[in-house]
Amino acid sequence: MYSATFDYFRPKTLAQAAALLRKHRDSRILAGGHSLLPAMKLRLSSPRALVDLSAVKGLSGIQAKGKNLRIGAMTVHAEVASSAAVRKSCPLLAEAASMIGDLQVRNRGTIGGSLAHADPGADYPTVMLALEATIFAKGPRGERKVLAHRFFTDLFTTALKKGEILTSVLVPGCGKGTGGAYEKHRHPASSFAVVGVAAIVDVAGGRCRRVRLAVGGVTANPVRCSAAEAALTGQEPDEGSIESASRRVADAISDPLSDSYASGEFRTHLATVLAKRALQTAVERARG
Ligand code: FAD
Repeated sequence: MYSATFDYFRPKTLAQAAALLRKHRDSRILAGGHSLLPAMKLRLSSPRALVDLSAVKGLSGIQAKGKNLRIGAMTVHAEVASSAAVRKSCPLLAEAASMIGDLQVRNRGTIGGSLAHADPGADYPTVMLALEATIFAKGPRGERKVLAHRFFTDLFTTALKKGEILTSVLVPGCGKGTGGAYEKHRHPASSFAVVGVAAIVDVAGGRCRRVRLAVGGVTANPVRCSAAEAALTGQEPDEGSIESASRRVADAISDPLSDSYASGEFRTHLATVLAKRALQTAVERARG
């Protein structure tokens, strides 16, 4: 299939990109094109103009900011997966990035495109929710930041407003005594997450001081599993406590997605199984 015809613009600055988005009302931002172009070819989306961000200066790259990381929206997954700074401050994120699609997808798809697209099977939204990351966007009214738990609002829908460009994401680093892990059951055809689970555990004095657990792929947007987190917090992390915390994952899930590959019931079960694995690995890593 061919897409409908469209105008194509490749601005060099953020200001030019913003002006083009304002001028061409039925325009869309183009990043890696790995989700937008297939949608256009299927005529699920027919924008009149594309504003390609690939030449905009300052939108790509990873900077360490103290313990935290600032990742530009146009940074491709392969760079996130291989970055020494990400592997040091936030190995969980590098791990998740390395599981996205295949080499071609990782060399082309961008972190900003993935977050803005908010595909329920995407890996980054789940990880950003667990990490409590902050997403930065620039629009006609200036820059604003949105916390990850407020960013994903529905299926393929985010808090981004018309004309806003996602510019970067600020990821808190994980210090000593903190371990993270990402577990994924991939769809055999696309590699998207049928279910993805991100776990982060702070261990001190042999007990879990803080637990963050997020599940993606099961519902329209990823969810934090607060009952499971509370069940493990303050406990000694052993087989029994991790098993019983994992059983509380289902408490966070309502209206699970269902399709010909995986029913809602199967997805919920997978989430429980993957949560246990992710928590176990996170605890092992926290203990060093
Ligand atoms: P685009 O396709 O260019 O854009 C996607 C949407 O986001 C568009 O609506 C666009 O207008 C908007 N957008 C893009 N950038 C911005 C911005 N900076 N500000 C505001 N809006 C913006 N993903 C996974 O997570 N896991 C997988 O396993 C996986 N497997 C894949 C397998 C295949 C075969 C393919 C084709 C894709 C797969 N993906 C997977 C998705 C891929 O990783 C990309 O992340 C995703 O396509 C979006 O990134 P992009 O840069 O290609 O964005």
